[in-house]
Amino acid sequence: MVSAPAAAALAQCPYCGVGCGLELKPPAAAGDPHWTTRGDRLHPSSLGQVCVKGATVGETLHHNRLTTPLWRERRDQPFQPISWEAAFEQLLTQIRRTLADQGPAGLAIYGSGQFLTEDYYVANKLLKGALGSNNFDANSRLCMSSAVAGYARSLGSDGPPCCYDDLDAADLVVLIGTNTAECHPVLFQRLLKRKRKDRQALRLVVVDPRATATSDAADLHLALRPGTDLVLLHGVGHLLLQAAAINQGFVAAHTQGFAELAALWQVWTPQRVSDLCGISEADLHQLAQWWAGSAGVLSLWSMGVNQSSEGTATVAGIINLHLVTGQIGRKGAGPFSLTGQPNAMGGREAGGLAQLLPGYRVVANAEHRAEVERHWGFAPGSIAAEPGLAVWQQIEAMERGDLGLWWVAATNPLVSMPSLDRVRAAVANCPLVVLSEAYADTETAEVAHLVLPAAQWSEKSGVMTNSERRVTLCAAFRDPPGEARADWAIFAELGRRLGFVDQFSYGSAAEVYAEFTALTAGRVCEVSGLSHDLLAQHGPQQWPFPAGTQPGGGQARLYGEVCAFPAAPAGHRFPTGNGRARLWADLPLGLAEPPCDAYPLVLTVGRYLGHWHTMTRTAHVARIVKQHPEPLLEVHPTDGERHGLVDGAMAQVSSRRGSVTARVQLTDRIRPGTVFLPMHWGATQAKACEANRLMHELGCPHSKQPELKAAAVWVAPWPRPEAST
Ligand code: SF4
Repeated sequence: MVSAPAAAALAQCPYCGVGCGLELKPPAAAGDPHWTTRGDRLHPSSLGQVCVKGATVGETLHHNRLTTPLWRERRDQPFQPISWEAAFEQLLTQIRRTLADQGPAGLAIYGSGQFLTEDYYVANKLLKGALGSNNFDANSRLCMSSAVAGYARSLGSDGPPCCYDDLDAADLVVLIGTNTAECHPVLFQRLLKRKRKDRQALRLVVVDPRATATSDAADLHLALRPGTDLVLLHGVGHLLLQAAAINQGFVAAHTQGFAELAALWQVWTPQRVSDLCGISEADLHQLAQWWAGSAGVLSLWSMGVNQSSEGTATVAGIINLHLVTGQIGRKGAGPFSLTGQPNAMGGREAGGLAQLLPGYRVVANAEHRAEVERHWGFAPGSIAAEPGLAVWQQIEAMERGDLGLWWVAATNPLVSMPSLDRVRAAVANCPLVVLSEAYADTETAEVAHLVLPAAQWSEKSGVMTNSERRVTLCAAFRDPPGEARADWAIFAELGRRLGFVDQFSYGSAAEVYAEFTALTAGRVCEVSGLSHDLLAQHGPQQWPFPAGTQPGGGQARLYGEVCAFPAAPAGHRFPTGNGRARLWADLPLGLAEPPCDAYPLVLTVGRYLGHWHTMTRTAHVARIVKQHPEPLLEVHPTDGERHGLVDGAMAQVSSRRGSVTARVQLTDRIRPGTVFLPMHWGATQAKACEANRLMHELGCPHSKQPELKAAAVWVAPWPRPEAST
C-alpha cells in the first residue's frame, strides 16, 4: 500500500519516448481522483516542459479500471470475476497442456513499451529462461525495431549515440519520417525556441509526404513520395561525393565498406532521385549543400522511417551519411532515433524483443545465452538457441494453430496491428488468450478469455529509460485499484508456481532492478552503477553508468573521441569486433504494396498531438477530445476532385484487406497521390475508424517491423451515391 504523499511525486511521463519529468500533486479534496501535473523543472531531459498529454495524465488514471481477474470459457460468453488463485490455475493448466502438446514454442507473450524495465526483465526471465520459449515480443516491434536493427547492423550495437543537448548544438537538424511537433512535442519546442532566438543559427529540414506542424517551421520541406526515403539519402550521398565533402580521414580510420557504398551512390544522380522522389533537384542540392557545410548535423527520425519494408536499410542510409562526414560521436551531431513508447528503450536494454536477451545481448549468440542462464540460475541450454517469434509471426503461428497461449500485456494489438481482420481471425484460433491490462473494455479484451487487472505507472515502482538513454525512477505514489498487481509481480508469482521459487522470489521492484543492472556489466548499455536508491537520491541518470560512476557522471554521447568507460568504446571505436562502423550499400526497393490501377492512392497513417496510441487514456480527457473530436481523412484537392470527394462529407477508404469510413478534409498539405488517416480510433470508439485494418503486414526482413506507413487504397464518397438513392 502507498499512502498518498503530502508533497508532489516525481516520475517520467508515461506517454512518449521524450521521457519528460513530471511533478504530480495529490488531489486537493477527499474523493477527488484527479492528480494535477506539471513539468519537473529539475528533470535534465525536459527542464520543466510538458505537452498536453503529460499535463493531463493525472486526470486519466482512475477511469475505466479493471479491479479483479475476469474469466470466460468462450468468447461469446460474458466475463465473470474470479480470484487470482483461480486465474493462476487457468494459466498453469494451459501452460502445462501447451508444453506437453506443442512444446515451449507454443507459448508467446506480447508486451509493451508501457512496461517498466522490471516488468520487461521478469517477463523475459519467465518465458525465455524458465519456460524455454523466446517468443517474447513487444509493441516496440511496430514502433522502432528498424532503429534497433539499423544501429546494430551499422554501429555494432543498439543504442542511440546522441543526447537532447545536441538539439542545442547542431546547426543542421534533418527530421526524416517524424512529425516531431505532434509526436515528440517537447523536443520540437526546444528546437523552435532556438530557431526563434536566432533563425540563422539552426537550419531545419523536414522529409515527409505531408505538410505538418513540423514542416511549418522548416527551412526546407521535402515532400517526397512515400517509400523513397532511401533513394533520397543515396542522392545526398551522390552529391557529397561530387562535392568532395567526404571526411576521408574518418572514413579510413573508423569505417568499412566505403568503396561499395561510393559505387552505389554513383548511380543515384540528382535527376534520377528527383524523378523517383517527386522533389526538385534544387531542393536535393540544397540539402546536400547544407549537410556538407554544417559543423554539426543531427538527424532525427521515428516511425516514418522505421515502419517500412526497408526500414533497417533506410536507417543504414541515414547512418551512412553521418559516418562518411564524421558527423557522429560529438556535440550537435549524430543519427538519433526518437522512441515512441516511454520505456521502449528500457525494453531493449532488458531483452524485450524476440531476438534479444538482457544487456543488448542476442539469443543467437551461445556465449550470451550462457551468461544469462548463469545469472538467472537456470541450467545450461535452458534458453532456446533460435530467436523467438516477432509479433506478426505470432499471428501467423496462431493461424496455423501453433500457439496454445498468447499473453498480451499493457498493449492493444486489436487496434495497433496491421491487417486487423486477419489478426482477429488468427486470435480466434488460439485456445487461451490472456490480457494483462489496466483499463477495461479495450478492443483486445474482446478477444481474450482471461483478463488480469494490472497496476499501471503511478501504482508500481520501477524505472524507465527515455530516448537519450536517461533512466528515471518512477516510484509508486498511488494505490492500485482493487486487486490490480504490478506486471513483474504477476510474472514472478507464476514463475514460483511453476516451481522456480529461487529464481522468482523478489521482495521488491528494487531487487528486480538490482539483478538486472548486474547483468549489464561490461555491456554498451551498462547500468551496473544504478539502483532505485541512487536514482531516488540523485535523480535521473544517463547510461553507460558502470559501478563506481558518480551521480551525473553518465555518458552523454556514445562513440566519441574520448570516453571514460570500456563498455562504450572511445576514439570513435565501434563495438563491431574490429572497431569500425559498417557502411551499407543497400539498393532501394520502394513500397511493398505500391499503388496500382485498382488501388491508386497511398494511405499513410500517423498520430494527432493530443491522443496517445489507442486512446485508452486520452479518450477520457475532455480538452483532448474537444481538440480532436474525430479522425479526418486528409486528401489533396486534385485527388478529391478525381474521386468525387467533398470536403466535410464522409468517404470510404478501401484496401485489399477491408474498408473504413471517415470524414474528408481536402487539403493541399498532403502530396497528391497520398491520403492520411490517424491510427487512434479503434472499433470500440464512438467514431470508430480502424485505419490499421487497411494496412498490410509485409515488413522489413532485418527488423521484422511491418510497413504500417503505407498501403495502396482507393477512396469513394460514402454512402455510395447509388446506395443512397
Ligand atoms: S513530450 Fe512526450 S514525454 Fe513529454 S509530456 Fe509530452 S507525451 Fe509526455
